[in-house]
Amino acid sequence: MYDYPFLPELMPLWYIFIFIFGCCIGSFLNVCIWRIPRGESVVTAPSHCPKCNHGIRWYENIPLLSYLALRGKCSSCKMPITIRYFLVELITGIFYLLIFYRITSSNQPLSLLPVYFGVTMLIICTAVIDFEHTIIPDRTTYPAMILGVICALVFPETWSTSSHFTAVGFSLATMIGYGLIMGLFSIVGEKIFKQEALGWGDVKYMAAIGACLGPLAAFFVLLIGSILGTIIGTILLLSSKKRNAGRMAIPFGPFLAIATALWMFIGKEFWCYLFPL
Ligand SMILES: [Zn+2]
Repeated sequence: MYDYPFLPELMPLWYIFIFIFGCCIGSFLNVCIWRIPRGESVVTAPSHCPKCNHGIRWYENIPLLSYLALRGKCSSCKMPITIRYFLVELITGIFYLLIFYRITSSNQPLSLLPVYFGVTMLIICTAVIDFEHTIIPDRTTYPAMILGVICALVFPETWSTSSHFTAVGFSLATMIGYGLIMGLFSIVGEKIFKQEALGWGDVKYMAAIGACLGPLAAFFVLLIGSILGTIIGTILLLSSKKRNAGRMAIPFGPFLAIATALWMFIGKEFWCYLFPL
């Protein structure tokens, strides 16, 4: 049994707090999703409208509410703001809330929160950036790898051990192991298909998932991501009327991201269902 540092009767307040916290993180992710593929800094330079350069004031930057109050338009030039900003904030908030609920309701250690919250940031950035730009930037996967190793060092119980060094060893070994295996797939795939079969961004993404969530999770993500990618990719190819559809690049990142989200919410039950022993 884990002793949580809050009173059960205050749980609703914690749910509200975690949801708002998640929406604020989602607001930061919107900055990352716009700036990282363009090679811009995510910390310096305040946000501004890309069309009229109008600086975004603090009250125009409140997650969810500002988008609704501005009716999805820049307050200065009335350029429509994509609904993605609102959705990323909302989905991040909901994910954080569900993760917090799942961990506290199944009596798991609260020290899982930083790694799950960090992985949520990685999957949302990966899904959107890879979908729009067909890249998974190093600036999302490297920080996730570092987060996974640091969390293993500080919270070894998340790796089911009490030794800090054993936990770091597991995290590093999983990261390097998946990096090598996926890297080999990428090189062999390119030789066989004469085109990039598995991008290096996908390789680094899998290494990051290994470092954060462990070998079983990484295997689940790879398996489910590949199945989803094959099914949806085939449907897209069949429905595409382009003649060069066979060469059409379908980003793998969004499928890996969906599979990672599934792991966080139902992964363990799925394994227990498949292998009851
Ligand atoms: Zn504007």
